[in-house]
Amino acid sequence: MQGARVRATVVPVSEGNTPGDGFLVRFWGVRGSIATPGPATARYGGNTSSIEVRCGARLLLLDAGTGIRYLGGALVREAPVDADFLFTHTHFDHVCGLPFFKPFFQPENRFRLWAGHLDEGLTLHRVLREFMMAPLFPVPPDVFKAAIEYRDFRGGDTLPLDRAQGINVRTARLNHPNGATGYRIEYAGKSVCYITDTEHVPGKPDRNVLGLIEGADIVIYDCMYTDEEYARAYVGWGHSTWQEAVRLCKAARVKKLVVFHHDPDHDDDRMDAIGREVAAAMPGAVVAREGMTLLP
Ligand SMILES: [Zn+2]
Ligand SMILES: [Zn+2]
Repeated sequence: MQGARVRATVVPVSEGNTPGDGFLVRFWGVRGSIATPGPATARYGGNTSSIEVRCGARLLLLDAGTGIRYLGGALVREAPVDADFLFTHTHFDHVCGLPFFKPFFQPENRFRLWAGHLDEGLTLHRVLREFMMAPLFPVPPDVFKAAIEYRDFRGGDTLPLDRAQGINVRTARLNHPNGATGYRIEYAGKSVCYITDTEHVPGKPDRNVLGLIEGADIVIYDCMYTDEEYARAYVGWGHSTWQEAVRLCKAARVKKLVVFHHDPDHDDDRMDAIGREVAAAMPGAVVAREGMTLLP
C-alpha cells in the first residue's frame, strides 16, 4: 500500500522537471525519527529524511532515510551516476535507507559520502560498517559494487565540491545529541539550506544557524514540534519547532521556509493545521511532503 501510494505521488526523475542547468530540490522523505506508513500519513508521506538536489548536471543527496530507496529506483535509469551524499548525521532515520539504495549495486556509479559531525576517532566509514553488521544486518558495505568514497570533515568547513561548476557548500555545527551538520548549497546565484536535526534554546537564537541561513532563498528546517509540545515534553530531545523556524528565518531574511522532519505522531490533518499556522506567520512557508519539488 505504501509503495503504491509513493509511486502515485512522486514525480519520477525521468519525466520530471529536472532543469538542464538550473537548481532543483525534490523531497523523497520528510518524516522524523521513524517511518510512518499508513493512511493517516499518506498525503505528506511516511518516509524518513531524503532529499534530491540538482545543481545543473550535478546531483547532491541530502541524507539517506527510507525515502532514498524510491530515489534510488528512479536513479537506476540514469547510470552512470556520479553524486555526493551530504549527511546531517548518522542517526538511524538518516542512514537506514542506504543498504537499499539500488545505485550502490551498479559498478559504473561513483559516490562520495560526506559527514562532519563525528568526533575524533570515529569515521563515517566505520560508523556505516558497524551499522551494517551481523546480527543486526546480514551483509556489510563491502557488498556495494559502486565506487564509494567516505569523506569526513569538521562542521563549519566549506566543502571542496565542484567550485569549478559554480557549486559552493558551506556547513555549520548543529545542536543535537552526537552532533549534526547544517548545509548551505549555493548555485546559480541562489541558496538552499538544510538544517536538521537541531534543538534551539528558547530566547537565544542559534548563531551558527543564523550565520548559515542569512538571506537564503530556501531553508528546510527541523520543525518536529510546536512550541507548546516542546516546552511540555521535549526539552533535550534534539529537535526544534516551527515557531523557532519562523523566528530564525525572519531574523535572517530568508525567502522561503520549508517545515521538515515531521513528528511521527503528527498525522495529515495535524500537518494541514500546522501548514495553515506557519503560512499565516510567514507568508510563502510550506510543509514538506513527498514528491514536492521546489525551484529556488
Ligand atoms: Zn532525525
Ligand atoms: Zn538525529
